[in-house]
Amino acid sequence: MRLTVLGSSASQPAAGDACSGYIVASAGQRVLLDCGSGVIGNLLQHAALSEIDAIFVSHMHPDHYIDLIAMRYGLRYGDGGTRPIDVFLPPGGAEQLQAVSEAISKTQPFFAGALNLHEYTPGQAVPLRGPLTVTPFTVVHGIPSHGMAVSDGASRLVYSSDTVVCAELEVAARGADVLLAENALGGGAPDHHHPRTHMSAVEAGTVAAKAGAGTLVLTHFWHTADRAQAQHEAESTFRGRVVIGRPHAQVNVGAETPVAR
Ligand SMILES: [Zn+2]
Ligand SMILES: [Zn+2]
Repeated sequence: MRLTVLGSSASQPAAGDACSGYIVASAGQRVLLDCGSGVIGNLLQHAALSEIDAIFVSHMHPDHYIDLIAMRYGLRYGDGGTRPIDVFLPPGGAEQLQAVSEAISKTQPFFAGALNLHEYTPGQAVPLRGPLTVTPFTVVHGIPSHGMAVSDGASRLVYSSDTVVCAELEVAARGADVLLAENALGGGAPDHHHPRTHMSAVEAGTVAAKAGAGTLVLTHFWHTADRAQAQHEAESTFRGRVVIGRPHAQVNVGAETPVAR
């Protein structure tokens, strides 16, 4: 199984970056976790849009779903082919995207024919065609938010989504080969929200250490964050390998040696 980071910024993309988007692939099957601002342009460096088998949205903050609009245009007028892509949204997400659709087009359902919208049930694995299984789990953020546990039967990646440190994340992350963790408060980022809604890099490292994760991939950086500083912060609490998420970084999940570029 392999992780490819497409975007690693929180809220607004840092220069040259995109917001949240990650391809997890195994045996030719590709799942896209989140689809934030700028993700589609970076995705096209790794796959055609029609080569994405399913999309999972962790929560309905725009930095995690807004490029579904670009995805729809690409599928409709670009390389799309004939097969709509299944999009798995949080509970209530389909209604929210319906409102987006109506805001864009009064004359036709905007996403119809390109994206098939479904809603997942947190805690229940979503069956897909191929070796990958995705199980969303509830975490704690300003709105309902869901981490994702992705397995191909041999290895396991856990994505935190946007969250504070919480028991749900700690349980899901146990023994993960890769923990892909947000650190919106890492690297000297300001904390605008009280109560807090995000993790620091130190906290992401603590979760990885408690979980016994193999590799920690830091992501969801504030656009002004000092990423090298965030890496040091995470390394103060996690003794395993820490990879800085950046566009096109790839990490092997499982037995192979992790590779980042
Ligand atoms: Zn976010
Ligand atoms: Zn969020």
